[in-house]
Amino acid sequence: MHTSPPWTLASARTLFDKPFMDLMFDAQQVHRQHFDPSQVQVSTLLSIKTGACPEDCKYCPQSARYHTGLETERLMQVEQVLSSAQQAKAAGSTRFCMGAAWKNPHERDMPYLERMVQGVKALGMETCMTLGMLSTVQAERLARAGLDFYNHNLDTSPEFYGSIVTTRSYQDRLDTLSKVREAGIKVCSGGIVGLGESLNDRAGLLVQLANLPEPPESVPINMLVKVKGTPLADNEDVDPFDFIRTIAVARIMMPRSYVRLSAGREQMNEQTQAMCFMAGANSIFYGCKLLTTPNPQEDSDMQLFRKLGLNTEPVATEQGDEGQQWELAGQLINADTPQYYNAAR
Ligand code: SF4
Repeated sequence: MHTSPPWTLASARTLFDKPFMDLMFDAQQVHRQHFDPSQVQVSTLLSIKTGACPEDCKYCPQSARYHTGLETERLMQVEQVLSSAQQAKAAGSTRFCMGAAWKNPHERDMPYLERMVQGVKALGMETCMTLGMLSTVQAERLARAGLDFYNHNLDTSPEFYGSIVTTRSYQDRLDTLSKVREAGIKVCSGGIVGLGESLNDRAGLLVQLANLPEPPESVPINMLVKVKGTPLADNEDVDPFDFIRTIAVARIMMPRSYVRLSAGREQMNEQTQAMCFMAGANSIFYGCKLLTTPNPQEDSDMQLFRKLGLNTEPVATEQGDEGQQWELAGQLINADTPQYYNAAR
């Protein structure tokens, strides 16, 4: 549901152009109106099919067009995925995201994907998938299996998009988002900062997301991870303040959405991450490798949460919140869960 009139490039730019402290103050106020500022939603992302993707997204090491040394893997066995989900739950994750490097899923894969969704749901976790473009029938099948969220990023503004991806159009992406929405699945969609885009492109991306018929429930804001072998490997670093500013503007424009601090967290120091939370980020990927790029290890995340007085958003578990907190504390001592680190090789 929209809470404000449609956003324009000019109104979004006004936010980007605010003095930094004013923008942070406004974002924090909006954040506190809609969320508990001490709670962060935690998701784990597992690559269930790695590499050899026919698409040409210039930032992505999984594209078959770039030589990044990434080892490709076929679709994981359902049992293996469920066992990773179990570990993610024990480590405090409330949502399990399964990502496959495809243009779109094939019919032959659908029964396995459905079983993965059903199995993860049975563990009491929220389910999310990112599989590329979906047909209406595929979206409906996944919805029936119990899929809660579907991730499909718009990446950047419509104007800049063609410089980053040529194998699928912006409209293709919007069409997939609307099929997902129509099937009754919640939408996770965001973009990437650091592709070489202008400030107008960052504003344009957020305008697209905020003006969707219903804004995404979840908005991942990624910092480009520069992977050797991809065309964007030598892009200029993003100034952390520009990244934080993008989070703050996303928070103001989509006040009820979870804004997720996503890829690129490994390159951020604790202070930058803390300012992202102040700017209104309230969701992270925890542990695991973020598809194929490294993500800070679970224990360093938990230590940062402790320093900042943040808590992971509770999920209804059999042992209750207290039991979950206890398990989380256990993870601090014994955070080495090799399966995650191997899962996305
Ligand atoms: S971002 Fe997704 S669609 Fe694009 S190349 Fe990577 S895996 Fe393929």
